[in-house]
Amino acid sequence: MSKGIVISPDKCTGCRTCELVCSFTKNDTFNPKDSAISVQFFDEVGIQVPMTCLQCDEPHCMTVCTVNALTKDEETGIVHYDSEKCIGCKLCVSACPFGNMTYSSRLKKVVKCDLCDGYPQCVKLCPSGALEYKELDSNLQKRKDIASQFVEVFGEGAK
Ligand code: SF4
Repeated sequence: MSKGIVISPDKCTGCRTCELVCSFTKNDTFNPKDSAISVQFFDEVGIQVPMTCLQCDEPHCMTVCTVNALTKDEETGIVHYDSEKCIGCKLCVSACPFGNMTYSSRLKKVVKCDLCDGYPQCVKLCPSGALEYKELDSNLQKRKDIASQFVEVFGEGAK
């Protein structure tokens, strides 16, 4: 069993503190473009949803990487990224089914959540408690958790 970040869109105020905390922690900048967590705004229903890597059980990003720059720690469940090995082909970015990986042309590397090695700073500093770091049974559960939150916020049959 591994731990992951669980989001509560109903608690997110859209302050984007998580993005700044992440970019500063990982890349020494205060720039949402350098953040591995990204707040999506749904203005029509007035909610905000922070999105980040789900540390998939069978990560597509890892499968397509030809130079093994992405590896999964089977004990913690964290998918780690090695910028030294990365050749910048961006295959992993297009392979992520959730759009949770980006490539920074400025930093010349992939921006991807690694749960701060088990101490996610975005969770620690989110002022509204919209992010939690907790045990998850499986990747399927992670997806179901997120889907159920969307149903809660948008309502059944929302598109
Ligand atoms: S951009 Fe880097 S990490 Fe992503 S697939 Fe290419 S080499 Fe691998």
